[in-house]
Parts: sequence; C-alpha cells; structure tokens
Amino acid sequence: MTYEEIKKKLVKNNPQADVELADRCNKLAEEVHSSQKRLSGDPYMTHTLEVANILLDLKMDSVVISAGLLHDVLEDSSMSYEELKEKVGEEVATLVEGVTKLSFKIKPEKEIRQADNFRKILLAMSKDIRVIVIKLADRLHNMRTLQFLPEDKQRENAEETLQIYAPLAHRLGVGRLKWELEDLCMKYLYPKEYEEIGDKIAAKRIHREKLVEEARTLLLQKLKELGIAVTIVGRAKHFYSIFQKMKRLNKEFEEIYDITALRIISESVEECYSILGVIHSIFKPLPGQFDDYIAMPKTNKYQSLHTNVIGPNGLPLEIQIRTKDMNETAEFGVAAHWYYKEGGQRDKKAEHKIEWLRHLIEWMTEIKDSKEFMDLLKMDLFGDEVFAFTPKGDVFSLPLGSTAVDFAYAVHSSLGDKIMGAKINNKMSPIRAELKTGDIVEIITASRSNPNPDWLKFVRTNKAKHKIRHFLKIKEEEEKKNK
Ligand code: MN
Repeated sequence: MTYEEIKKKLVKNNPQADVELADRCNKLAEEVHSSQKRLSGDPYMTHTLEVANILLDLKMDSVVISAGLLHDVLEDSSMSYEELKEKVGEEVATLVEGVTKLSFKIKPEKEIRQADNFRKILLAMSKDIRVIVIKLADRLHNMRTLQFLPEDKQRENAEETLQIYAPLAHRLGVGRLKWELEDLCMKYLYPKEYEEIGDKIAAKRIHREKLVEEARTLLLQKLKELGIAVTIVGRAKHFYSIFQKMKRLNKEFEEIYDITALRIISESVEECYSILGVIHSIFKPLPGQFDDYIAMPKTNKYQSLHTNVIGPNGLPLEIQIRTKDMNETAEFGVAAHWYYKEGGQRDKKAEHKIEWLRHLIEWMTEIKDSKEFMDLLKMDLFGDEVFAFTPKGDVFSLPLGSTAVDFAYAVHSSLGDKIMGAKINNKMSPIRAELKTGDIVEIITASRSNPNPDWLKFVRTNKAKHKIRHFLKIKEEEEKKNK
C-alpha cells in the first residue's frame, strides 16, 4: 500500500475529503519514521499506511485517516502533544494522544489489570470513540504481521487480542474486525486445530461451492420472478466460530452443519420476511434453527434473520437475510456513524456516544456471569464504583451510594453550590437520589440555591463534603461579621 493509493481511496470514499490534511500528516509521519524499520525488515511507514488502509475500509473520514497515519508518532519520537497540535491541528493531535495513552496489557496480576483495562476503555470512549477504532485498526495490522515476532510475544499478543480487542470489536459491532482478529488469534493460540479446520474446509471446497452456487441461482431466479431485487453472497464461515461451535456443542467438524452460508441483502424489512417465506418454500428448514434478530436485535445492534435449511443435494445451509442498513451496522458497527460525515452535520455525535457507552456498560455487567468470555474477569472490582454520565456523554466515576449532589460537585464546584434539582435519565429526581451505573444526570441550578448542612448527611464524595463545609464556614464567618 502506498500513500498515493491511500489518497485515491480516501477521495473515492468521499470526494470532499480533506486531502490536504492527510498529505500533511503523511509527510510528518514519514519524517518521524524515516529511519525506523519493523521487525519484518519493512520500513516503519508500511505499518502506518496499512493502519490507515484498515480505517479506510471502515469508511472513516480524513481526520481519522490522518490520525491513523500519525498514530505512533508521539510514542516513537520526542515530539510533544503541543508540537503535534501546532503541526496538524487539535482534532488529529488529540486522537493521536488518545491512542498513545491507551494500552491494554494483561500482566501477572491479571484481575487488577483487567479492571484497569476496562476503566481505560470506558474513559477513552467517553472522550472519543474514534480513539478505540484507531486502536483496533493498529492491533489488526500488528496481528496480521505477528509472524515476525518471537514466539512468546506471538502468544502474549494473541491472548491479549482474544481477551480484550476482539470482544471490544464485537461489542462495538464492528463484525469485520472481530472475525479477522479472532481467526488470527486462533492461528497462534490453537495452531493444530486451526490447520485441521482449514484442511477439512479445503477438502470439499469445490463440491460445496458448486452446490452453493446452485442454491444461489435458484433463489435469485425465484425472487426475480416475484419482483424482489436482492444481492446474494456466499460466505465462508470463520475458522474460530466453527472451532467455538465444536467446543460448545462438543461435536466433530463433520457434525457442524452450517459450514456453508449465504447472505441475502434486500431493500426493505418487509422484503426480508417475504424472502424468508420464499426460502422455506424452496428448501426444507431445519426445525428450531430460525432466529429473528430483526424483531429482537442483539445488544450490539446486530439485526438479521437467520435460518438453517437443507440445500441442494442435502447440503445444510445457513442463510442470513438483512437490509443494506443492517448489513452496514453488522460490518462497521459504531464506525458506521462516521460514514461520510465529513462536511455534513455531526451533532448526533453526543447521542451516539452515550448509546455506545451504555452498550459497553451492559457488556461489563454481562461479563460477570459470562463464562464463555473469561473467568478471570472479576467485576466486583468495579462493585464499589458507579459510572454516571453528563448529557454530553462525559463519564464520571463515583463511589457507590453517591448522589446527584456528588455528581454535580464532581463536574464542577459551581454546579454543586448552585444545584436545585436533577434530571436522572430525563426524570426529575431528588438531589439526594443515589446514582446507578449508566445514569445520565442533568443538574438543574438556580442562582439563589446554596449548599445546605443537611446535604452532609447523604453526600459520599470527599470533594462534595469539603466544598459544602467550606461554603458553610464562609457563610458563618460572614454572619458573625454582620452581627
Ligand atoms: Mn502502531
């Protein structure tokens, strides 16, 4: 990948893209990394260009692409954030700084490290979710080139990726990144199984592909007769998901029936259901193998109809049916929100931010009893903490039992001193109401409001206590003077 190719792709994604910015950032990256090489022997710039390329595949805008080109600059040179800001502007510099600061590591004290990782993820996301997307692209390219690292490093990175980055990509709904990351991890962590599954898939590939093509043609023809326009693509199942399924169901490769899959992309939701009817009239559905994720989306917003049928010549087929929009959400997840936003309106950003943070919190809560994810994660490390949000999506972590007054003081002293009421999740609530993780708290102030000694009975944070006492003391002194 050359920078010229990156530029071409950027303009193809969006003719209004800020190419001048990307040019400037690429030049700067070249200056910084010029003498550096990767372990593969390639010039360091191959990495930054590939990271930018992955971000382009996710249809990210020129700001994110530029930050991708520069993502290792602060780490690999003596350049400061201030210098970078001067050269490329605040938005790109802030993203690069975010990526630099964000490093997730699994260390011997695993449990503590994990909690730390999730706190970092949460805080980084509340600032700018694009930082996480760049971090994921960076990790993906490092995983693609993992063969150049020493063996112990390969394992370590693959484990970290499987435990932190792939689940993160999944929760953010970026299916594309998730699948590839998982398959790459499997290659290094379960090399024997990886090879076996690969061999078995390859063994009957030609036969299978012929039957899939037959099913595809049949469906296309039938749908055309009914006036329904669709795109149908054959889809190779990912190794890691086959492997997981074999383990989960305790079955052999040969017993996994949906190795082969078709995806049908339609124009509308109504058509999805019509198409389902057509499929079931042509191919016999397998009982109990139908899922309606359109009516009941997954928590990461994934939507699709899934059905398993007996295809041509007895070939078991998994068929997914979804609209174009649903397909974008499934492939790009949270990144889909930055689609061609350049130059356009961007005010929905805060809204999306909160929505995704809530998903993340749901995830963190789910992890508690999700064996499949990882046993080592002890969420009670978070048990004494509450994460609450401002209406703009900034997150504040407070001790358990904290109230709206604590929250107000955490945001700003003046907000605490003038608090009159609070809207929690859009509902008027008393200022002493205890907050829960995920609450969105809007503080209502009044200029005549003042701290009240009674507040000391329910506030939890030292900051609130201190500020209230401070106010009361000053008031007392003033009253003495006036006597
Ligand atoms: Mn990097």
